[in-house]
Amino acid sequence: MKVVETIDEMRRLRAELAESVGFVPTMGYFHKGHLSLVKRARGENASVVVSIFVNPTQFGPQEDFSNYPRDTERDLALLEKENTDVVFMPSVAEMYPSQFNSWVEVGRVTERLEGASRPGHFRGVTTVVAKLFNIVQPTRAYFGQKDAQQATAIRKMVTDLNMNLEIVTIATLREPDGLAMSSRNTYLNPKQRQAAVVLYQALKLAEQLYSQGEKDAERIRQEMTILIEKQPLANADYVSIANTETLEELDEVKAPALVSLAVRFGKTRLIDNIVLSTETLEQS
Ligand code: AMP
Repeated sequence: MKVVETIDEMRRLRAELAESVGFVPTMGYFHKGHLSLVKRARGENASVVVSIFVNPTQFGPQEDFSNYPRDTERDLALLEKENTDVVFMPSVAEMYPSQFNSWVEVGRVTERLEGASRPGHFRGVTTVVAKLFNIVQPTRAYFGQKDAQQATAIRKMVTDLNMNLEIVTIATLREPDGLAMSSRNTYLNPKQRQAAVVLYQALKLAEQLYSQGEKDAERIRQEMTILIEKQPLANADYVSIANTETLEELDEVKAPALVSLAVRFGKTRLIDNIVLSTETLEQS
């Protein structure tokens, strides 16, 4: 496994890699969710490149960029076990030299949900991902369904800007109680950690109501909000039932629909989602 910190070195190694190249962009501090992306990339490609870069441009001024958890040594050991070929770990100065001044912005789908709560977030995400795609030139890139809107924005960028790669989305890995794995879960104290299961409970409630025939999206959003409000440590930021492609809020639930939410526990903000599909109905 080669670990490189400069764009020049990454490009040089890229030229030597066996085709095809699977790429997993991350901010590090790995959990099993990250590793499931790497495993999938390993299974589908001749070479695997993983980047670890905590991208400052996707964090708002009041957000957790400087406190974001980091453990490079452990991350590299885990990537070694997954037979990663190259790890790209650039510095902030390498990715954003002082004269840097170009941005990639995806319209519409980035304006809602996370985009509404975190102004500028997706501009930072799509810019860094576009840069990483240009540097690594992958055949396929792997993203988690956990960050559903991010995956949607990246697919849109790839389509709109004719980028020559395939985007693969991977199912969300969860803790045994249903909490989606996230590097940010480490911020939770034990009481908040217990309370955080409410995100999954709210999503399951939406699924249950829908499978029982409830089609009124507002009713489902309300029931989810009531459930979250019963948990004193939780503060709902948004609860959404939206079209999976446009992310526009639905009045009537029509599968496939993206049920997503953001909930705060103290300073920690967690997100999660599920997709209501026609299979949701058939299973019930
Ligand atoms: P991050 O390091 O948080 O930027 O995440 C890197 C990639 O891992 C992103 O594509 C995330 O969507 C994905 N990811 C994060 N959490 C999970 C999870 N619980 N299950 C599957 N993928 C995940």
